[in-house]
Amino acid sequence: MYDAIVVGAGPIGSYTAYQLAELGFEVVLIEEDEEVGKDVICTGVIGTEAFERFNLPQRAIISEIKSIVFFSPSLLTINYTPSDTLAYVVDRDIFDKEILQAAQRKGVDVYLGEQVRRINTYKDFVEVESWNGNSLETLRAKLVILATGVNYRLQRSLGLGIPPSFLKGAQTEVEVKNLRQTEIYVGRQISPGSFAWAMPLGNGWARIGVLAESKGVSHLEEFLKMRFAGRIKQENPRIVQKRIACGAVKRSVKDRILAVGEAAGQVKTTTGGGIFYGLLCSEIAVHVLQKAFSKGDLSQRGLFQYERLWRSKLGKELKMGQWARKVLRKLTDKQIDKIFRFVREKAFIKKLLEKKVKFDYHASLISSGLKLLRPK
Ligand SMILES: Cc1cc2nc3c(=O)[nH]c(=O)nc-3n(C[C@H](O)[C@H](O)[C@H](O)COP(=O)(O)OP(=O)(O)OC[C@H]3O[C@@H](n4cnc5c(N)ncnc54)[C@H](O)[C@@H]3O)c2cc1C
Repeated sequence: MYDAIVVGAGPIGSYTAYQLAELGFEVVLIEEDEEVGKDVICTGVIGTEAFERFNLPQRAIISEIKSIVFFSPSLLTINYTPSDTLAYVVDRDIFDKEILQAAQRKGVDVYLGEQVRRINTYKDFVEVESWNGNSLETLRAKLVILATGVNYRLQRSLGLGIPPSFLKGAQTEVEVKNLRQTEIYVGRQISPGSFAWAMPLGNGWARIGVLAESKGVSHLEEFLKMRFAGRIKQENPRIVQKRIACGAVKRSVKDRILAVGEAAGQVKTTTGGGIFYGLLCSEIAVHVLQKAFSKGDLSQRGLFQYERLWRSKLGKELKMGQWARKVLRKLTDKQIDKIFRFVREKAFIKKLLEKKVKFDYHASLISSGLKLLRPK
C-alpha cells in the first residue's frame, strides 16, 4: 500500500509528490492526461521569490519581467520599474514536465491517462478508482492528495465544497509589433472589475489575455481590436479560455484527504495567479503531513493544522483581493482616469505605493492605496 496517492500532475501535484518522496514516503501520482504540460492555458508568470524558495526548473524560464506599464481607460500611463527583476515568464510545457520528472527521479510512480473517478475512505486506508480508457483500476493508500486544479468533481463528492466564484482567463499567443515591456490595461470596456495584459516573450511573440468575471473570449476579442489593431501578425489569433478559482474551497482536509493548489482555491484573487500560492501551500502540506504520518494520525483533526496554517498565511490576501475586485467593478472609467491622474501628479503617493508593492502579496498595497486615494 502506498503512503500517498496524489491526483493531478500539474505543477502543484507533482511538486507535492516530489517533496514527499524526498522524505522517503511511497507516493503514486495519477494524471488523467496522457502528457503533462501540453496545451496548458496559462501566462506562466511566476515571481522571482518562487524560484529562490523552491526547487523549480530554471530551464523553463523564457523571459523576465523587469518593468510594467499600467494603462488607464483613456491611456494615461503609470510606469513601475523596480531595481530588481519582478518575475519570470515560463514555458508551462517544460515547467510541468520537469517537475514531474524530478518527482519520478525521487521514486514517485506515475500513471498517465488515468482519470480518478471515485475515492472511498475507510478507517485505515483510502481506495481510489481510476479509469484508464478500458477498465477501472483500484489503488490503496494511507492518504489521498487532491491536486486536480480547477476540476472540483471529487471535492464535491467528498463534501469539501467548491470555490465561491470563478473568473474567466482568456488568452492568445501572437506575434506583435512594438511591445517592449509588460502592459496592463484597466477599465470597464476592457473588463469590469478586472484587467487585461500583454506579456512580451522575446522574438516578437507575446501572450495577450484578459481576466474577466464573464465572457472572457469576447472581452479579449474587443481588447485586441481596441488596443492592438494593426500590430498583430496573425489575422485570426486562436483564443483559448479556462476558468480560474476565485476564493478558497470550504474545507481543504477530511479524514485521509487533503486538497492543495487550485484544487483548494489557493489562487490570487487579484490576478488569478495560482502557481506561487499553490507551491507555498504544498510546502505547508508536506510539513504537516510529515508530522501526521509520524503520529499515525491522518484524521481530519490530525490534518487540520494544514488548513489553519495556509489560511492564516493567505486567507487575508484572498479576501482583500475579492474586496478590491468589488471596488474596482463599481468605478467608472472617468473615476479610474482620475486615480491615474492623481498618482501621476503626486510623486510622493506613487513612491509610497511603490514601497508597498510585493509581487505575490497584494493586501497591504490594496489597503494603503484605498487609504491614500479615499476622498478627504
Ligand atoms: C489564461 C490563464 C492565465 C494564467 N496565468 C497564470 C500566471 O501567469 N501565473 C500563475 O501563477 N498562474 C496563472 N494561471 C493559473 C494557473 O494556471 C493555475 O493556478 C495552476 O495551473 C494551478 O496548478 P495546479 O497544479 O493546482 O493545477 P493544474 O495545473 O490545473 O493541474 C491539475 C491537473 O490535475 C489533472 N486532473 C484533474 N482532475 C483529475 C482526475 N479526476 N484524475 C486525474 N487527473 C486529474 C488535470 O488534468 C491537470 O493536469 C492562469 C490561468 C489561466 C486560465
